[in-house]
Amino acid sequence: MGSADVRRLAILGSTGSIGTSTLAVVQAHPERLAIVALAAGRNLELFRQQCERFRPAYVSVAEAGDAGWLRSSLNYAPAIHFGTEGLLACALQSEADTLVAAVVGAAGLASTEAALRAGHRVCVANKEALVVGGELMHLALQAGGGELLPVDSEHAALHQLMAGRSPQLVREVRITASGGPFRDWSLERIQAATVVEALNHPTWKMGPKITIDSATLMNKGLEVIEASVLFGLRPEQIQVTLHPQSQVHAMVGFHDGTYQLQVCANDMKLPIQYALLYPERLDGPVPTYDWNQARTWTFGPPDLERFPCLALAYAALRVGGTAPAILNAANEEAVAAFLAGRIGFWGIQACVAQTLDAVPSEPARDLAQVMDSDSRARSRAREWLDRHIT
Ligand code: MG
Repeated sequence: MGSADVRRLAILGSTGSIGTSTLAVVQAHPERLAIVALAAGRNLELFRQQCERFRPAYVSVAEAGDAGWLRSSLNYAPAIHFGTEGLLACALQSEADTLVAAVVGAAGLASTEAALRAGHRVCVANKEALVVGGELMHLALQAGGGELLPVDSEHAALHQLMAGRSPQLVREVRITASGGPFRDWSLERIQAATVVEALNHPTWKMGPKITIDSATLMNKGLEVIEASVLFGLRPEQIQVTLHPQSQVHAMVGFHDGTYQLQVCANDMKLPIQYALLYPERLDGPVPTYDWNQARTWTFGPPDLERFPCLALAYAALRVGGTAPAILNAANEEAVAAFLAGRIGFWGIQACVAQTLDAVPSEPARDLAQVMDSDSRARSRAREWLDRHIT
């Protein structure tokens, strides 16, 4: 195959778990995938090593000071940017045709939207881009003719199961949840959970923010919203099933009562490779699934009383407009406060619930307006957090 078949990637968030897994997929398919831009926030030494290894022409870091350090540390001279402008430069000014959006939090929103407007393929691991800016991403897709491919394991599974079907053709979809570290804990024990306990995820090794979101099931709630945005499904068409083994990632149920399930090893390199190479299927980056190994799979319903964040996410999705942005902003603030030891675990859901009640939702017209809801939600959440320091 010729060089025209090479995808040119900008990875925003290259030192995180999605970023490093993406680089592993690139190394497995060097004839098809090339790195033209990398951006990272923290973990500068790993970022320096990645730059030396892949030699992207465009790089970006969080702060101007970090850019200076990187310039003096590298053995070659890429264009070095920083901040939100740096993310945009990597996405748009480089020769990239594919963006891997793996920056954590609302910071990744503008670059994701801009890449879609520029007609690029965007492999989106940044939940917030879809949760906060779902309607904006649709507008950007229409304007730019780009492609949106989910990198999350459940949504990559749904992308395969939906296979372009219209949402009317399916009765429901189900995304699975491992249940996190507190799946079998009593309500009282969950309410008193420590940071160390919440960071001890049984199935996936991920960054601290998403690991806490997995412990509260807010991660699954954000994924319900994501599924609605990606596939045009109504809230009641999206269900969550507990499945601690994390081998079935999603299922689609048709009107006749039949289900199709998607199964693969729980390794993020699989959904990443799917998104990068879609619609092609090349040799996998992980061993083929071993059906000769005896396994037990279990399924069950989530408990909304012990995991109220899931119910809060459904509530925000039903309200629509900027309510998901408000939910997400309050959750980011509350999780940061919990990780900093300022509030208890149960304070996360309380803060999100209070903020959703206090900040009215508006129609999501443009990025500025969505970000305005985001900042009003953050200041309300911070007020609440200041009053509830433990
Ligand atoms: Mg997921």
